[in-house]
Amino acid sequence: MSGERFEKEFSEIMALMERHGSVLVTGHIDPDGDCIGSMFAIALMLEEMGKTVICYAPGEISELFLKLPGASLLAGREDASNFRHDLVIAVDSPNTARTEHFARPCENEDVINIDHHPTNEMYGCVNVVEGDAAATTVLVYRFFMSAARDRMTGDIADCLYLGILMDTGGFRFQNVNAEALRVSSELLDLGARAFDLAHEYIYMKKFSTLKLLGFVLDSLRLHLEGRAATMEVTSEMLEKSGTTLKDSEGFVDYGAALDDVDLVALFRETGPGEIRVSLRSKNDYDVSALAERFGGGGHVRAAGLTLETADLASARETIVKGFKEMLD
Ligand code: 5GP
Ligand code: MN
Repeated sequence: MSGERFEKEFSEIMALMERHGSVLVTGHIDPDGDCIGSMFAIALMLEEMGKTVICYAPGEISELFLKLPGASLLAGREDASNFRHDLVIAVDSPNTARTEHFARPCENEDVINIDHHPTNEMYGCVNVVEGDAAATTVLVYRFFMSAARDRMTGDIADCLYLGILMDTGGFRFQNVNAEALRVSSELLDLGARAFDLAHEYIYMKKFSTLKLLGFVLDSLRLHLEGRAATMEVTSEMLEKSGTTLKDSEGFVDYGAALDDVDLVALFRETGPGEIRVSLRSKNDYDVSALAERFGGGGHVRAAGLTLETADLASARETIVKGFKEMLD
């Protein structure tokens, strides 16, 4: 059974946790539910063990996550930079750059790397990396079952369940597998609040977010004989709807809802001369390869990159050209 993989790593991780007093738990820029859930689950356990622990991920953190158990352990950037620690645990982060180097490769300090991105660079002293896991929290769950079973709580179960729920788009994406469902079911037995989490994190939307969605859907275009779709989030749309960039989380999936569309890109103006691109694919087209060409990365069916341009039209042209090569 897959649960037996990483037994050695899990006991090494527990040994490192027991040995050290002060731990920085970090994750990728603009953390999603899987990243946050993984960080909080680990941090809650370390706090119970009497460790000094903080969580830090760069970028924007959705205020929805501040309601979760474990949110009190979140630190700001400055506190995280000044935090003296002897162990770093990085979750859901394929490389150290994604943590803005709060995690560094295993050389001068102890680093644990737990992730499900197939592009992971194995930068940890201990690496628990499996591309087939639906979420990083599935791997964290395995760690608990293997090395810290009696430290599992209802709050931790909530955090782990959230990771699976959000990374599978509410159990709809192609990464759903038997283990994701089995672990989810076990987490419910352990106290995860399935309905409350689905309601708060998948279903409920603010009025302003739905307004923004309206603008973004209005920008939907088809390319390459309807096999690719693009959408955009401009600063003007954010202003008109009273939202911020993080409110457009998940919008890219609307493009993939179109039956004939295999490739989708969502462009977001993130700063002066900078456009973030979210890519999605169906039918096994590999968008992580396209993302990597521009210094980004991700999974086969969900990847991202940043383009250094202020011009949405040229960003669109660049990506649609990449899409064309993939479809040809
Ligand atoms: P999203 O489009 O939701 O921001 O990202 C989709 C997936 O691609 C996520 O799994 C995310 O971790 C990964 N990803 C997004 N942007 C980057 C990037 O710049 N570099 C790498 N390595 N992965 C990314
Ligand atoms: Mn993830």
